[in-house]
Amino acid sequence: MLLLMGCCQLSNAQDLSYYLPKNVSYDPAIPTPRSIIYHEVGEWHVTHDKLVSYMKAVSAASNRFNLQVTGYTYEGRPQLLLAITSPENQLRLEEIRQQHVLLSDPEKSASLTIENMPTVVWMGFSIHGNESSGANASLLTAYYLAAAKGAQVDDLLKNTVILLDPSFNPDGLTRFSTWANMHKSKTLVSDPAAREYNEVWPGGRFNHYLFDLNRDWLPAQHVESRNRLRLFHDWKPNILTDHHEQGSNASFFFQPGVPSRANLNTPKLNQELTGLIGNFHAKYLDSIGSMYFTKEGYDDFYYGKGSTYPDINGSIGILFEQASSRGHIQETDNGLLTFPFTIRNQFTTTLSTMEAARNMRTQLLTYQRNFYIDVMKEAASYPARAFVFGDAGDKSRTAALVEMMLRHKIDVYELNQNLNTGGKSFTSGNAYVVPTSQPQFKIIKTMFEKTLEYKDSLFYDVTAWTIALAMNLDNTAIIVAPQQYLGTKLTAAPVITGSLVGGQSNYAYLVSWEDFYAPKLLYHLQLKGIRLEVATQQFEATTLAGSKKFSYGTLIIPVRQQSISAAETYAILINAVKENSVDIYAVNTGLSVSGIDLGSNSFLTVDEPKIMMFGGTGTSPTDVGEIWHLLDQRFNIPVTIVDVERFGRVDAGRYNVIIMPSGSYGNLDKGDQEKLKDWVRGGGTLIATEDAVKYLSTNGFTKVLFKTDSEKKDTTLMLPYYNRMDELRSKDMAGSIFEAKIDMTHPLCYGYMKPTVSVFKANTLFMDQNNSPYDSPVMFTDEPLQSGYLYKGNKPLIKNSAVINIDNLGSGHVISMVDNLNFRAFWFGTSKIFMNAVFFGKLIRM
Ligand SMILES: [Zn+2]
Repeated sequence: MLLLMGCCQLSNAQDLSYYLPKNVSYDPAIPTPRSIIYHEVGEWHVTHDKLVSYMKAVSAASNRFNLQVTGYTYEGRPQLLLAITSPENQLRLEEIRQQHVLLSDPEKSASLTIENMPTVVWMGFSIHGNESSGANASLLTAYYLAAAKGAQVDDLLKNTVILLDPSFNPDGLTRFSTWANMHKSKTLVSDPAAREYNEVWPGGRFNHYLFDLNRDWLPAQHVESRNRLRLFHDWKPNILTDHHEQGSNASFFFQPGVPSRANLNTPKLNQELTGLIGNFHAKYLDSIGSMYFTKEGYDDFYYGKGSTYPDINGSIGILFEQASSRGHIQETDNGLLTFPFTIRNQFTTTLSTMEAARNMRTQLLTYQRNFYIDVMKEAASYPARAFVFGDAGDKSRTAALVEMMLRHKIDVYELNQNLNTGGKSFTSGNAYVVPTSQPQFKIIKTMFEKTLEYKDSLFYDVTAWTIALAMNLDNTAIIVAPQQYLGTKLTAAPVITGSLVGGQSNYAYLVSWEDFYAPKLLYHLQLKGIRLEVATQQFEATTLAGSKKFSYGTLIIPVRQQSISAAETYAILINAVKENSVDIYAVNTGLSVSGIDLGSNSFLTVDEPKIMMFGGTGTSPTDVGEIWHLLDQRFNIPVTIVDVERFGRVDAGRYNVIIMPSGSYGNLDKGDQEKLKDWVRGGGTLIATEDAVKYLSTNGFTKVLFKTDSEKKDTTLMLPYYNRMDELRSKDMAGSIFEAKIDMTHPLCYGYMKPTVSVFKANTLFMDQNNSPYDSPVMFTDEPLQSGYLYKGNKPLIKNSAVINIDNLGSGHVISMVDNLNFRAFWFGTSKIFMNAVFFGKLIRM
């Protein structure tokens, strides 16, 4: 085993001969990786800058290469895509691309001559930045494809277009390569306890905002995914590979995964072809003596993952998982695992993938063509002829869903007339129609469908992602003849801008809190020094554009209470509506048509939030990242992220809101707990999510109690040991969607116009209501499951449990949110509750 894993002395420098196929000659005119990056592949972890340098150099030197920058990451790093094929194909690359995408057009694909078309293979690496053997292997793949000579590579390049994406996550790769390189010793250290093998928080797995990009292919909320998806649909590859790493003691995994855990919307033939492609990986890995496994551990279920998204797009996604050396050489159960060894396995499976693509060319092209023909047949027998959706009060959430659909090349139309259907009403201009009879039907189905039945009870990730529920958008199926409702077909998502309705006022302005981006407008105005109050009752006001009803949470800007003139106030508001999607209404009288008048004591001053959030060791990086992204990217609100361990040294008096994202907080010591309690007692708002809720209840911050499984233990039962892990895991809550009722009059629920909302739950914490009935404004309903898997033992626990509890401590509040209301940046439906806690938490009376 030891010999297989690498060499026997602790050195990890290997020259190209260690990796490359034997008996192939290489063109000396092509630069080797070493000549550009100044070290051998695997000797150091390649930095993203060097990776880009090499890809540019090899592209410049080879007439088989075409390099394209597809976009830039949050940190400004280029995302590359290299189209690699024979020089003859390069001359007609655009023509090849256009022909290829016609395979996905069931109306035109019949006339294509598959015999003359190359297969298209997208090879993607290291979407988890700290699983870097893939990105390092891409150096070898590029070198091989540029430099290898002979009939075999010529035939490969003639019959395939290889799209090489050397780094799916450049910012994460950079973070990790810096870590691994900075800890490398000249005398290599293989002890797993070494700092080299144990990254500090947050680690290189994530992108800039600490999101797992391998969950974002479907939501597509991040710039990296958006750039990649655009090119994916420009090309519609036949195979897409996704090279990862797993635990250091494992071997190598390639798909197919567990057969019973493949998504039912994925055709059987997809999994069969995945198996046939797998035969090539097996042959190639056998030839270098590498161990591997298939059909275990990993699934093919959630379409937000890189190896599963292709499966719903007529393509075949392949997941690879190499045991990770993390740093340069590490002791494992299988002996010493060197970084070059891990790179060689990844590189070898790029060769086997290309071999499969060449060999199975007509099979894969035919599969893709038939996939879309079959989709149209499936759509024809689907009960819904179209879905209509929209929310007149919140155009921003509606636009967000439209935008998401367009990224997946779904055809979306404006609703051309007002429509009452399925007990819901939709207005033209505020609603959209998506016919199901179109090639992207399967994605539409997965976005709208509520899933309640499963072949298996184990999941690698979430079990439901019904996007319409996530967006809290009214939607319903149209059963007959949707053609009559189709207006203009959209080419881009609607751009929503606000307006100042009624012009300048010398009295007051009103702002409804309903739009998703209302918090952005509020903070913008606060920064400009505008004084605002919030309505704790509803009313109907006489605006300069007529009378209008305003709900709980409406903002008022009294003109005479500003420190600036009426004209200056107007100028600020006019600019604000241009940059925000929210309308502002001018009023000239304080007397309301009904409800409270504008000078009522029921309007309360809203303070500008000064926010601190815990981060670092003891907190969950993705939870921290989701809140950071929400505040920073969506609402332009700064947040100071402070390491748990540094809290003792921080001047907490600077903040009026402190956020505790999910985490263990085991490193918040007694003194710091007391400091935090004192800060709350002084009037602060402490917002906790998921595990942090548990921490606060066990440490005396709140009276929160959790429901537990009171099922009587059966002591006569004997269960088979082999199934132990699966049985335990089936009791998990991997992620399902539940209906909750909300009190629309409570400050935490301002801006909601419906009494229920869909909450995403991915934990088994179930809160009882712990104070008065006024202090749990969001609670799960009697029969809450809307979509997803629910273990039967958890059914009585979630029923009527609290999503949110509020406790007071001195003159401050602790707001316990047991679920993640900002899940993966696409749960637009519940983020407003979170933002209400930020802005209005202080106003809650108990
Ligand atoms: Zn991974």
